[in-house]
This record gives sequence, structure tokens and C-alpha cells, in this order.
Amino acid sequence: MSTAPIQQQRSPGELRDLAEQAGRDFENAEALDVLRWAADTFGHRFCVTSSMEDAVVAHLASRAFPGVKVVFLDTGYHFPETMGTRDAVEAVMDVEVITLTPRQTVAQQDAQYGPKLHDRDPDLCCALRKVQPLEQGLRSYDAWATGLRRDESPTRAHTPVVGWDEKRGKVKVSPIARWTQHDVDRYVARNGVLTNPLLTDGYASVGCAPCTRRVLAGEDARAGRWADRGKTECGLHG
Ligand code: SF4
Repeated sequence: MSTAPIQQQRSPGELRDLAEQAGRDFENAEALDVLRWAADTFGHRFCVTSSMEDAVVAHLASRAFPGVKVVFLDTGYHFPETMGTRDAVEAVMDVEVITLTPRQTVAQQDAQYGPKLHDRDPDLCCALRKVQPLEQGLRSYDAWATGLRRDESPTRAHTPVVGWDEKRGKVKVSPIARWTQHDVDRYVARNGVLTNPLLTDGYASVGCAPCTRRVLAGEDARAGRWADRGKTECGLHG
């Protein structure tokens, strides 16, 4: 169980001020210190989100906040390896995994929009299967943590360590924003952190199966996501 104190809900203005101040204070801070601040400041109104590509941020957060809630979006399109990583994280780590699902099953979505919406309109598919469930799932939190890193792609190059999520009115914490892939690999090796087996099978970034391919030599980590579809982000971080 978590030992973090129960925190009172703050107004959007208070949260924005906190985010802006922390953004300045924590730009060069250690990831664990950022997460300790988030746990102390927001208590049970803080959660971590994870795509189950790896469990690095969940592992760090569990050290700062034992029993921390780890939110996972089950789009219905994940690789079996991703679901297995989710189950393993739940089984072995001191976290509470919360699985969010879309309003419609894949079959219901196919019936309404036609099959393979991800090929015809991936923005709508992501809106229905990722963005809407996350908006709903984050309602009871004031702050959320992500595993975004600046070195992943040009679109993430300016990710703040602590920032203001204007769209959702929440504090957004990216404790490993300044980390490189080498930092991640070193943390995984030193701490025996769970990772998605696909990362050792040619995938550098793991999303939904229909929209993810292996990366080629010289490509950035997210080049295998929505390849050839002119899309780089799912809408969770934009
Ligand atoms: S990543 Fe692909 S399958 Fe997953 S929600 Fe987005 S468009 Fe749909």
C-alpha cells in the first residue's frame, strides 16, 4: 500500500503555478527526486502512465511512492508481449496497475466505423481508443507521470521535466525527459527492470500491433510507429 499522504484537490490556477515553479526547480534534478516531489505534493492524486514498453518510470515511482498507481491503456490492439509485461509488472512490482479500456470493444468499433479504422483514420482510432479513455481515467488525478524522453524523436525534443498539461488541466511530470537510451539501458540492467520482450526483437518503441513495425538502422526510436501514415503521436501528448 502507498504511504503517501492524502492531498486536497487544488484549483487549476494553483496546479498551474505549481507546475511552472517545479518546471524551473526540477529541470536538472534526478528522476527519483522529481518523483519524490510529485508523491509528496500530490499523494493519491498522482499516477504514472505506462505503455508497458518498459517499466522504468513505474520502477522509479514505486521507489518514491510504494503502491503508486500505474495507469495502462488497453486499446484492444496490443501485442501479447505488451499484455504479458503489464501482467508481470502487476505481479512483481510494488505498484497498483489500473487498466483503462475504450468505451467500445474492437468488434463494436468495427461495427460502427468499419474494420481497420487504424488504417483509414488513425487519428480517430487513437482518439477513441487512447485519448478518450485517458481523459476519463485521469479525472481523479491532479498530476500524471510519463516516460517521455527528449531523445526519442524531434517532436519530443522540448519535453519539460515538469510542465502544465493545458488540455487536461493537470501537472505533467516526465522524470526521465533528459535521459538517453543509454541511461535507460543502464537503469534497466542495474535494477533488473522488466522490459517488453519486443525491445530485443527489433522494435525500439512499442505501441498497438497494427501501427508498429520494427525500426531500421539509423531511424529514430519512434520511426516504427504509424510508419508511412504521416502520424507521429497518438494525441496523448499533444
Ligand atoms: S495506435 Fe493504431 S490501433 Fe492503436 S489506437 Fe492508435 S490508430 Fe488505433
